[in-house]
Formats: sequence, structure tokens, C-alpha cells
Amino acid sequence: MADQPRLLEGLDPEQRQAVIAPRGPVCVLAGAGTGKTRTITHRIAYLVQRGLVAPQQVLAVTFTARAAGEMRSRLRALGAAGVQAQTFHAAAFRQLRYFWPRVHDTPMWQLTDNKFRLVVQAANKVGLSTEKEDVRDLAGEIEWAKASLVGPEQYPAAAAAAGRDVPVPPEQLSKAFAAYEQLKNRAQALDFDDLLLHIAAILEDQPDVAEEFRSRYRSFVVDEYQDVNPLQQRVLDAWLGNRDDLTVVGDANQTIYSFAGASPKWLIGFPRRFPEATVVRLERDYRSTPQVVALANQVIGAARERPAGTRLKLVGQRPDGPQPDFAEHEDETQEAEAVARGIAQLAKRGVPLSEIAVLFRVNAQSEVYEKALADAEIPYQVRGGERFFARAEVRQAMAALRTAVARDDGAQDLPATVRDVLREVGLTDEPPSGGAARERWESLIALVELAEELVETVPEADLARYVAELDARADSQHPPTVEGVTLASLHAAKGLEWDAVFLVGLVEGTLPIQHADTDAAIEEERRLLYVGVTRAREHLRLSWALSRAGSRRFRRRSRFLHGLVPDDHPAALPSRAKQREQLPRPSKPVKPRCRICGAPLVNTMDVKLGRCADCPSDVDEDLLTQLKAWRSERARQLKVPAYVVFTDATLT
Ligand code: ATP
Ligand code: MG
Repeated sequence: MADQPRLLEGLDPEQRQAVIAPRGPVCVLAGAGTGKTRTITHRIAYLVQRGLVAPQQVLAVTFTARAAGEMRSRLRALGAAGVQAQTFHAAAFRQLRYFWPRVHDTPMWQLTDNKFRLVVQAANKVGLSTEKEDVRDLAGEIEWAKASLVGPEQYPAAAAAAGRDVPVPPEQLSKAFAAYEQLKNRAQALDFDDLLLHIAAILEDQPDVAEEFRSRYRSFVVDEYQDVNPLQQRVLDAWLGNRDDLTVVGDANQTIYSFAGASPKWLIGFPRRFPEATVVRLERDYRSTPQVVALANQVIGAARERPAGTRLKLVGQRPDGPQPDFAEHEDETQEAEAVARGIAQLAKRGVPLSEIAVLFRVNAQSEVYEKALADAEIPYQVRGGERFFARAEVRQAMAALRTAVARDDGAQDLPATVRDVLREVGLTDEPPSGGAARERWESLIALVELAEELVETVPEADLARYVAELDARADSQHPPTVEGVTLASLHAAKGLEWDAVFLVGLVEGTLPIQHADTDAAIEEERRLLYVGVTRAREHLRLSWALSRAGSRRFRRRSRFLHGLVPDDHPAALPSRAKQREQLPRPSKPVKPRCRICGAPLVNTMDVKLGRCADCPSDVDEDLLTQLKAWRSERARQLKVPAYVVFTDATLT
């Protein structure tokens, strides 16, 4: 076990203050990379080590399976392996499985394995479209309502108050929502949000259950608290009762789930709710070079609204590094190929591939990067490392796990069961100090982590299911530890860090995303960019392409790049002379064109509207007249037809 000085070493005075604060309310409000997650893991380990709380009495929660896994491995490394670090859903599932039979006198209902089908049936029942996209929108809206503690009857009023962009008349949506709940209950099934609703209700209504629960869990910790939604907050309150042993950390500037009901108001309001709380603000950024930090400050400094609690400025602590780079490409394929070349160059200079990430706004963007990396023979899977399942210790472990399936009674803490079986093949609680023994230990612990990851997504998974999962991974060569480049969405990248980050697809319509059509939605997109920028320790490249692969439709660089690209950078908006050089030689005119930016219109709807989808619908007519005049003047000067002069000005 780590000794006490080690837990307090490597912390700055403010971090230390939060770590050693007595049990009770603690709040760390700080920007990205300032050591919030480090502070809470050290705090837990410190309290455990000092005997101030038993590891099994601590419940640490966060929002994604990956973040929970990351926290567990950090805790393990600090000697606090017995602490439960889970997502809200996984923690609720575990508790519900224990208490449900007692409260309802029946076996616990199954988690629905096909929510989508239920939503289709509900849509059908009330006469709504059952097209895939429409059903997805409907399911998203039901999720928002449940996360916001809004029932079917309250939905229309609540959706209007929250300014939801409802895809169908709210009254009809409300009926579909009610039908969905009815169908689900009739099937005795639960969805993920029901896990939270049920555990909160049980703890609120059953004093004996609440008492037993509260004697078991005494200390709560929440990472990324800015992303808590009303339902999760209700669960947290039910867990706490009238106690106050709660440590929260967060960064309101990284709120990126408000579309799903999350709000930083509980983080910002924490010191008011617990006036006696230890409140710590961190400003030193230990993750990134001052160059990356400066860019991050610039991105978030441009935010329209900066409520109290979000005006934190990061101060870089690391030595200088390279300036963040920017690159503009003609199309997405070229952009992806350039990223692959960039990665190859970094790898040549000694940056490990596992320390490089390509981050994008929507998962659909990953395909073109997968192809470019595969073509360049760069391994990229997040959980790569081809030869993992061929390792002797892993083969041995798999054999032991298969034998254990027969005697598994399915009563499950799956990770604990896996750990027990792996003890037979030499897994120890503490890692050996080095060499081959350490490598062997790492392989075995990776298998335990895989079990932890599996129960996060499939809480009811038993040993047989776990072994089947391993077999599938072995077959498809997707072993659990990574050696390759990480491809991830910005949402999935939160809380993580890499030496080098390629932030791609910075065009209007992608970041900000097309459907972000309110100021609030645009601000959330800006925060996503901030999350992306702050993942980089040292190398950062932001890139964009002016058309999609295979399409000639013009796309404008993201409005968020405005002011970020230095004037002397080749990707800066071209100077007049350069602009002349870069203008495409006119061949035959293509009609029609966008009346605002002049880009050719290919889509029938755009043609009908007379503008491309990237241009705003409400352009001030004066501005438009000025633009037209500017375009004809430029065209006259450059001796080209007016239609080749596009505008790159941000019109909104
Ligand atoms: P995010 O907001 O992105 O979740 P965070 O505030 O949780 O970031 P951490 O991930 O805890 O930040 O820390 C960022 C990096 O800085 C990690 O590599 C961590 O080990 C390092 N770090 C944190 N505090 C210190 C410190 N006092 N001295 C040296 N390195 C530190
Ligand atoms: Mg963190």
C-alpha cells in the first residue's frame, strides 16, 4: 500500500487542502487539466489509508464507463482498490438488484434489451412516424423528459419552458411517452433511467431500506459534477439523506450534456447549499503546455455567457511546447490523409501511438479516418494490441474462466468472480514491482477491467456472457489493451488526455453541429471544442476541409476558429493577393447559387430556399446588399465572374 507521504506528494497546496479536508462537503471548482480527478482519487485513498473511512463505505460515481474504469485504475494504483467507482447507472443497478426483491416481493424486472422496439410500438400506437430517425428523436426526447423528472402529462409544458426543439406536436409526443411507459411496464421491463427512478423512490419511501443503505455507504464522491441531471441529482440526494459527506469536482465550462438535461447549477450552487463546505479553486494546468493552455483560454474566453463559477483562467505549468497547428484541406479524404501523415511523423519522433488521439464531433466522421489510418498501416483501435489473446497468461486465464463457467451460480459481482478465478492463475492484489511478472499481472488485470467495463454496459452479465464477450474479442482481434491511436468523439474524450491530439472536421454544420440552432446550443458546441483542445498535453492540430469526400458542396470553416488562427499562419484567411491565386479558374457556370455566400446549390431544398444550409435564414437585407456589392467589386478587381467570389465572413 502506498504510504502516506506519497499520497500528499505531487499535489499543490490547494489540491492538498481538498485531499486532507475532514469528511464532509468538499467542492473543487476548476478548469480542465488542473488535477480534479487526481485530487479526488488522492482524497479517497488518503481517507482510506488514515482509517477515516472503510473502502467499501465509499461510493465514487461518474458519467461514463470509461471514466469509471479510469478512476478505478487510479484508485488501485493508490492502494484503494476496494472502493466502488461506477457510473450512476451501474451503481443504481447493483443497489436495486439487492433491494428490489425485498421491497416488491418479486424478482427484479429485467433491463429491457430492446428499448428501440418499445419506442417503435409506442409511436405506432399513437400514429407517429416509425422511421428510424424519427424514432431516435422520440427516444431522445423521452430520455430527456425522464432525466429531467418530467412525466408524460407534464411534458408539453416542460418542453416549452425548456425551449426543446420538439420534432412532433408536444401533445402527441406526450401520448407516445405514456404509451412507451405502459408497454414497458406491461412487459415488466426497466430502461436505464428506470434504474435511477426506482432506487430513488425506494430510498425515499422505505425508511428501513434507507437506513440499511446509509449504514453501508457513508462517503460519496462525484467526478465531472457539472454534467449531473435532475434525475441523477435526486438519486444522489436519496443516497445522502440528511448527511453531508459528499465531495464533488467539476468544471462548468465542460458542461456538454445539457441537451440531455444536465446542468452545472448544482456544481455552481454547492457552496450555497453547504455553507460549511471546503471550497477549493484550482487554476494551475498540469496537463498541457502553455501554448495549448493559451488556445484553450482563448476558446472559452470567447463564450457569450460566462456565469459566475465559469470565469476560471488556466495557468500552464508545463515547459513550453510547439504552437498548436491549423490546417485547411480541400476535402475530407485529404484531411484524413494529412492526419495519418501527421501521426506517422509524430511516431517517427518517438510519440507512442497510444499517446495520440483523433477527436471528432460525430461518430460518423470516424470512418474516413479509419480508412486513412488503415491505408497508412497505423493501428488505431482503442482497445488494440493484436497479440493480447495469444499471450500465455491470457490463454491460461481463459481456460480457467471457461472451467469456472460451469460452477458459476450467476449470483454476480462479476468483476469479483473474475478476480477470484484469476487468482488461480496467479493474479495478486498488488502489482509485482517489475519485469515479466509485472507484464503478466497487467494482462490479468486487463481481464478484470474488461469485466468491470462489461457490467457498466450490461449490468446483468454473468460469467458465461463475459467469456462469450472475450471470445468475440479474440475472434475479431480487438483485445482489451491499446497500442494504437485512439479515435473518439469529443463526448467520449472527456476526462482523458493524450500527448498529441488531432481535432478534425472544424466546419460549420459539424462543429457547431447543424442542429445547434439556438444560442445555448451554440455555446454547448463551443464547450465541446474546449473539451477537445484541453485533451492535448503537447501537440495539437485543428483541421477542416472545405468539402465532404465525394461532394463538391462548399463548407465553411467553423465560426469558432475566428481569431484563433494567427494572421501569419498559412491557414489564416487568405490575404488579397493569395486569395487571387487561390481562386478556382472558372469553367462553365453552375447554377443556381446561394444568394448569401455564392456557393453552388446542389440540394433541391436549398435551391428552393435560395440559400445553402450553412447560411443563416435571417440575414439582414442591408448586410446582404453590402455583400453583393463587395462580391461584384472583388470580382471586377480580380477579373473573374462574380459567382467565384465566396464570402468567408461569419454572417451570424
Ligand atoms: P479534466 O477537467 O480534463 O477532467 P482534471 O482536472 O480532472 O481534468 P486530471 O486528469 O486530474 O485533471 O489531471 C491532469 C493531468 O495533470 C494528469 O496527468 C495529472 O496526473 C497531472 N497533475 C495533476 N495535478 C498535478 C500536480 N500537482 N503535479 C503534477 N501533475 C499533476
Ligand atoms: Mg477529470
